[in-house]
Amino acid sequence: MLSERAKKIKPSPTLAIDAKAKAMKAAGEDVISFGVGEPDFDTPDNIKEAAGKAMKDGFTKYTAVGGIDPLKDAIIDKLKSDNGLSYRREEIIVSTGAKHSLYNVAQALYGPGDEVIIPSPYWVSYPDQVLLNDAVPVFVETFEADSFRVRPEALEERITKKTKALILNSPSNPTGMIYDRKTLEKIAELALKHNFYIVSDEIYEKLIYGGAEHVSVASLDKEVKMKTVLINGLSKSHAMTGWRIGYAAGPAEIVRAMTNIQSQSTSNPTSITQKAAIEALRGPQDFVVRMREEFDKRRKYLVEELNRIEGMHCLMPAGAFYAFPNTSQLYGKKAGGRQISSSADLALYLLEEARVALVHGSAFGDDNYIRLSYATSLADIKRGVERIKGAVGGLTA
Ligand code: PMP
Ligand code: GLU
Repeated sequence: MLSERAKKIKPSPTLAIDAKAKAMKAAGEDVISFGVGEPDFDTPDNIKEAAGKAMKDGFTKYTAVGGIDPLKDAIIDKLKSDNGLSYRREEIIVSTGAKHSLYNVAQALYGPGDEVIIPSPYWVSYPDQVLLNDAVPVFVETFEADSFRVRPEALEERITKKTKALILNSPSNPTGMIYDRKTLEKIAELALKHNFYIVSDEIYEKLIYGGAEHVSVASLDKEVKMKTVLINGLSKSHAMTGWRIGYAAGPAEIVRAMTNIQSQSTSNPTSITQKAAIEALRGPQDFVVRMREEFDKRRKYLVEELNRIEGMHCLMPAGAFYAFPNTSQLYGKKAGGRQISSSADLALYLLEEARVALVHGSAFGDDNYIRLSYATSLADIKRGVERIKGAVGGLTA
């Protein structure tokens, strides 16, 4: 009965784990969630007030499909001042979250037989969005020893005549890695030489620690910009996950196609949210700085503690809000009658025995790891880590 396309797709594992943790909490269980990647901060009041004003003013009707001009202008100004990029309105589209922007790009660019290269570990929705368009995800492995940056030589080996695009994500979910300028230059060179697009997901741009630099690949030069679709949004930077605003910036032809697709599917992103987004982009940015400082403290604490657990080791992430410890040494161990053979076994064991929710690495294409989101309070991180230590300590050879 269902289409072949629908049969190929699985539910988002990160959202599924979040739903499970929430259901356990609702049933009265004391679950600590390192599961979903969502800031635990409330959306700043000035942003909420802008939404309230929009409602009071009756700004509650359909808008232009790809977003209202004042919001496009705020995005254009942001891209100019933060990223050194110049875009025109027809090169911008606002969508219902960055996930929706990525989906629109996928619909606009990927077709049957096209190959889309995805460095792994990857964010969960990239392969499924490729599959939804009957295109083929082609994975290129990255390694802890390279801080999970793709090796340009390894990337080049995956390029064929069918390569349509490469999906880049810096800072990365799940590894927290960020791309340096040199590596980006080499990747961009390959995109120009072999004529494929770069879909650059920069949603964690504002969450970078220790003074590292965010480089937007489109800013390298004009030619690269014409081969790049930049994705960003407000979910992470302004704690606005539920508001659903994301955007894309890219060549006008692609943006026009994305806008047509959006006009036949969801129409405009919520009118009220668009007004709130203008305030988020144009209003005071001290909230972002405070949130980042708090995440930075949690990052250091969590990663240091994870490295104290025998059988785990974890790189210090440079961005986003995830720790991605290697847990492969724990596989093969047992607890009671239970054998831990994979990241999924470990995640289930920790959920059931320690009441700690986190995501198995296989959801991101690498079974040697698990992902913990530290977008949760330091007090919960401390309690959660103690529980993990206890449960891992209970494993026997
Ligand atoms: N890209 C990455 C890498 C993400 O982790 C997320 C998480 N939500 C998104 C895109 C989508 O964000 P949203 O749809 O909330 O804007
Ligand atoms: N991106 C977040 C995560 O990876 C939110 C969940 C989702 O959108 O899949 O946890």
